[in-house]
Amino acid sequence: MTQDDSAARRFDVAAIRADFPILSRRVRGDRPLIYLDSAATSQKPLRVLDAEREFYLEHNAAAHRGTHLLAEEATDAYEGARERVAAFLGATPAEIVFTRNATEAINLLTYAISNATLAGSAAGRLRLGPGDEVLVTELEHHANLVPWQQLCERTGATLRWAPVTAEGRLDADRLAHLISPRTRFLALTHQSNVTGAVSPLAEIVKVAHDAEVLVAVDAAQSVPHFPVDVTQLGVDFLCFSGHKMLAPYGIGVLFGRAELLALMPPFLTGGSMIEVVTMERSSFLPPPQRFEPGVPPAAQAAGLAAACDYLAELGMARIAAHEEELTAHALDTVGALPGVRILGPGTAKDRGSSVSFVVEGVHPHDVGQYLDDLGIAVRTGHHCAWPLHRALGAQSSTRASFYLYNTHEEVEALGRGIREAQRYFG
Ligand code: PLP
Repeated sequence: MTQDDSAARRFDVAAIRADFPILSRRVRGDRPLIYLDSAATSQKPLRVLDAEREFYLEHNAAAHRGTHLLAEEATDAYEGARERVAAFLGATPAEIVFTRNATEAINLLTYAISNATLAGSAAGRLRLGPGDEVLVTELEHHANLVPWQQLCERTGATLRWAPVTAEGRLDADRLAHLISPRTRFLALTHQSNVTGAVSPLAEIVKVAHDAEVLVAVDAAQSVPHFPVDVTQLGVDFLCFSGHKMLAPYGIGVLFGRAELLALMPPFLTGGSMIEVVTMERSSFLPPPQRFEPGVPPAAQAAGLAAACDYLAELGMARIAAHEEELTAHALDTVGALPGVRILGPGTAKDRGSSVSFVVEGVHPHDVGQYLDDLGIAVRTGHHCAWPLHRALGAQSSTRASFYLYNTHEEVEALGRGIREAQRYFG
């Protein structure tokens, strides 16, 4: 038994589930809800809901505006949340920009890069133009593909991409060969939301940095599931959404290395991000405020801080170990069914807990509908990763995704449900 096995064994899933009242719901004719869609959004523990509620009940005011007590408390809650998130990621608070979600974080970054390009010499490292290249991968969620496509269109730069292997992993060797003297940015996912494949980030960052390429990481599926330390990984930018890691909707993060954020012009502009405003022009505050116009989402930030506390107290390594066991079980159970093809690595090593699959002869929507009738919530479609599905030779798929509150009994129920669906539609 490895250390991880014993850690996972001490992980008290029943106690965790008691923190998530929604998981006790009975659905579809009094069946227990089996929630296997956490890659889309996670459920929220009482502690997170309480943190948000307490903010509204006790401290509600516009953070960073006003001199009264409540405004001070709201500011403390918001800035305290920034410190908490920074500690969770191994960053400094000034490197944490709050956004609405991962999608907005990537748009913020890519628009700041085109604004840097317009601004000329001041932001040299961030400028992008004709002849320059942006490298992405075939593994990307649309949120980390479309904004880079648009950035290339705006600046005249060329978009290139690294392929995936037949197993649904990033082809890291091909990626390394695609880095050229013209490559300026590499944008890649840490963990695929479809195949679960985890990219060898530290190695990739080294290769990129040796070629003076800046690395932006979509960590929407990694930060919620295993320990991520931005300093150890050496990444330049990294983003994620709170709602996939037990936090409320409407709060996400863009991490940027301090010296790079300092070079970045703003994306959205308005109140709370300015230094001096005249009728002719304005100057802007330093990061992170430069990127956070408007009254900030302080209650949501407090919820995100509570989620970080909750996850950190359980231990990200223990959460990862529990998910690895569930994933291994799911791959064995679902992968063993005749006529079922897993889109992604067939073993739980170096892959996360998104398990996507295609059932021969049954449309993924029918599989999803059948499972839903059994009380099992999964996602169907292309999961915002259309090019990846094409690369893997599938139009769409069914995805079961696991998190800290899922159980082995739920994995078994999924296997039985798919088998029943095969019989029903077969
Ligand atoms: N990146 C990945 C890998 C995702 O799975 C998702 C959401 O599914 C996103 C980005 C976008 O997240 P959001 O919709 O919260 O902005």
